[in-house]
Amino acid sequence: MAELSKMDKLISLCKRRGFIFPSSEIYGGYSAIYDFGPLGVELSNNIKKAWWRMFVRERDDMVGLDSSILMSPKIWEASGHVQNFSDPLVDCKKCHQRFRADHLLESAGLKPGYDKDQPLDTKGLKCPECGGELTESRQFNLMFKTQVGSMEGSTSEAYLRPETAGGIFVNYKNVQQTMRKKLPFGIGQIGKAFRNEITVENYIFRVREFEQMEIEYFIKPDNWEKHFEELLNLMKKWCAYLGLKEANLVYHEIADEERAFYSKRTIDIEYNYPFGQKELYGLAYRTDYDLGRHQKFSGEDLTYLDPETNEKTLPHVIEPSFGLQRTILAVLSEAFEEVKGGRSTTTESNKEEEMVLRLPYDLAPVKIAIFPLSKKEPLLGIAEDIAKDLCPFWNVQYDETGSVGKRYRRQDEIGTPYCITVDFDTPNDGKVTVRDRDTMEQERVEVKELRNFFQKKLIY
Ligand code: ATP
Repeated sequence: MAELSKMDKLISLCKRRGFIFPSSEIYGGYSAIYDFGPLGVELSNNIKKAWWRMFVRERDDMVGLDSSILMSPKIWEASGHVQNFSDPLVDCKKCHQRFRADHLLESAGLKPGYDKDQPLDTKGLKCPECGGELTESRQFNLMFKTQVGSMEGSTSEAYLRPETAGGIFVNYKNVQQTMRKKLPFGIGQIGKAFRNEITVENYIFRVREFEQMEIEYFIKPDNWEKHFEELLNLMKKWCAYLGLKEANLVYHEIADEERAFYSKRTIDIEYNYPFGQKELYGLAYRTDYDLGRHQKFSGEDLTYLDPETNEKTLPHVIEPSFGLQRTILAVLSEAFEEVKGGRSTTTESNKEEEMVLRLPYDLAPVKIAIFPLSKKEPLLGIAEDIAKDLCPFWNVQYDETGSVGKRYRRQDEIGTPYCITVDFDTPNDGKVTVRDRDTMEQERVEVKELRNFFQKKLIY
């Protein structure tokens, strides 16, 4: 039997251990959309909390926002999404599957053109599934349409937001005035976005429902290079916090002809996923395009009045944009390690392949596991009391089944940094054994000191 790829093993681990489930699985799954299971939601919440801490809370030039998913459809006309948010689509005339024409060209080693008004030249390409002939390429808009209110018709037509940024731009004035912010300042937001992608691919890499973590950083245009550099450095710091190795990251400077016409500089941060190097995040200097368009379409004055100089300017914007699902996939790929022959040198090890998720401790879904060596008193009661004492501070998992070796392996697989064993000496000496996931070192710690001990170990 062929050996499973790293990606297959990771997907199977995510399913088996409750990180990620296919959406609507009992109905056969739905449209390559995924749900986070109990451990996935912990990991996802830890990432979002850390992002908010680094990009919003720790900075006095940033504030947060949570805007709605359904908004006035005019927003998407102003932003250009109604007209331009599309990808080139081709159909196979034989098997009727649909593909992204630009992706097919790229896989054939050809460079797609960037003019959205022109169909891509796909002559000579064949269907990658059945070898059939392909149609000419045409643009397919990626926004999901819906109806708002009980009346059907074009007046009630709305869109599920394709990015969170729109909600930030339309609240720019509210936020600037209520928070009395001076330029430069940023607004951060985390929330769902929806794109009716032509093809979905690579597990949770390209999906139709996902979450974004975005900043719009409002500036005066004169110093944009400096702000761009600062935000790029902050994004690099974030990647390091996630545990992503520099060697796996590529900072791809987007060439003039590939950039949106209003952007003066764009960098895609790409990550070396198990299936290839692909976009993880984006950073773009978007000039005053966004506020300019919203000012024009809404008729509202969106200029900023400098309180010192009394000068009016339309703020320019730099946008660091992050996808949550792509972050999770990068973090899991980086952290996933297989140990052939087993990690432990003791006889308890099954000497088979073992898996460890070397997640940064701050991101691990479970921080501490507690194992009583017996299911009877007094060990049981001591273990339960420890769990009660620690659970208000950290996510704790209690496990009383199987050998300690097996319980360690179960925790290593989900990336738990610390395991506590309550053994037969504990009732006498008041101590437990704490084992570290990475060093596998064990130390005896007094039960009454455990909270202090972890407070020092689990700070971020
Ligand atoms: P791609 O070229 O891969 O389609 P994009 O350039 O259209 O991505 P942006 O519009 O810049 O992506 O969106 C910002 C971020 O949102 C991306 O860097 C990525 O992390 C995330 N993202 C975009 N589309 C998807 C998707 N379909 N599934 C998951 N994450 C996504």
